[in-house]
Amino acid sequence: MSISLLARSIQESPTLALNEKARIIRQRGEPVINMGIGEPKNKAPITAILSTAAKLSAGDIKYSPPDGTPSLKKAIIRYMEENYDKLVAPENVIVTSGAKQALFNILYSIINPQDEVIILAPYWVSYPEIIKMVYGIPVVVTPEDGTFHPRLADIEQSTSSYTKAIIINSPNNPSGMVFSEEFISEIVDYCERNRIYLILDDIYHKLVFDLNIAYPAYRYTTKDIESSMLIVVNGVSKMYGMTGFRIGWIVTNKRLVEVMSNVQAQTASCTSVVLQAAAEGALTGMQSVVESLRLQFENNRNIILQELRSFNNIEISKPGGTFYCLPDFRYYTQNSVELSKFILEKALVVTVPGKEFGMEGHIRLSYAGSVKDITEGIERIKWALDPQSPNEIYIGDRKLIRDWL
Ligand code: PMP
Repeated sequence: MSISLLARSIQESPTLALNEKARIIRQRGEPVINMGIGEPKNKAPITAILSTAAKLSAGDIKYSPPDGTPSLKKAIIRYMEENYDKLVAPENVIVTSGAKQALFNILYSIINPQDEVIILAPYWVSYPEIIKMVYGIPVVVTPEDGTFHPRLADIEQSTSSYTKAIIINSPNNPSGMVFSEEFISEIVDYCERNRIYLILDDIYHKLVFDLNIAYPAYRYTTKDIESSMLIVVNGVSKMYGMTGFRIGWIVTNKRLVEVMSNVQAQTASCTSVVLQAAAEGALTGMQSVVESLRLQFENNRNIILQELRSFNNIEISKPGGTFYCLPDFRYYTQNSVELSKFILEKALVVTVPGKEFGMEGHIRLSYAGSVKDITEGIERIKWALDPQSPNEIYIGDRKLIRDWL
């Protein structure tokens, strides 16, 4: 069968593949705990459901403009004003099918073959693949000092005349790191001065802990939006736990929005008006939904940290946001793919290998689930790896004895 060279080079999404594996194991009746998944467990906000239902009952389900319905764009503009202190025009906003498609649309619209895009390890798994899909070259910058916090000096060293864009994601998937205000202001200045696009994947920006904030990049530029290199990506998936609705958006200069609208018009026509109504309902409804999710994740973060700190020989840096952490298991093994496989087979816990995020020897654990899943999940991993933990455990109603350490 003839498959294009480019399509052949694109990897399966490891997180979606792991979810599927967990589902199959669970279907067999096994008590699997999924700490791989990146989605909140809440029900969709009631205002999102009601506005979807109203749209459906009206029965008038047609195309919207390629860049989104005027009323959703209005809600996004208000969101920008309230959360970014930035007043933008409708022509600065385009609605997409999730932040993922937003990133694809942006990169498709700015990258020429062989242009380079800098991504910062640990990075979200999809960045390199999306960059490759538009014939760009991902350039990975790993912090020299072994932390999860990027440094401008390392980025400067990797910048070349081919560098077209830098993607940053704070709070960060997979580490949970919130980047410092100093770094955000430096990178904004650096990109504006060197005419490099700065793509800000802000999908977790509401999910920050310890009274911290995710510093909004627009605050640190002196340029007006039409001459600025900043491109903000956001969406309803994480902050409202609406992953299945597939609504995201981009805010940037009018010229780029126009180009991206043409791209969208020729590929998807528009995103579904039913789902756009849902996002509008969430954005204009009670925002306490977001705060209660944030509080739940902060509590879960505290629990997982406590559990991991009693785990012998692993290193863990405290996540400042999201619902992920990225403990260092290099004492046990360098091979995170083997480690994740081992943990799934022995302890029935799904994790994601750090290799997928450019951090070998680590594994990503999601704490978006229940407190019970978190404590039991870590107890099982401890049992599988740490010789100082008790060598008997109950998984479901089966008593297991560790005989490999
Ligand atoms: N960016 C990051 C960093 C993510 O973790 C995710 C989802 N896992 C996305 C973008 C995509 O979000 P969406 O569901 O809006 O496509």
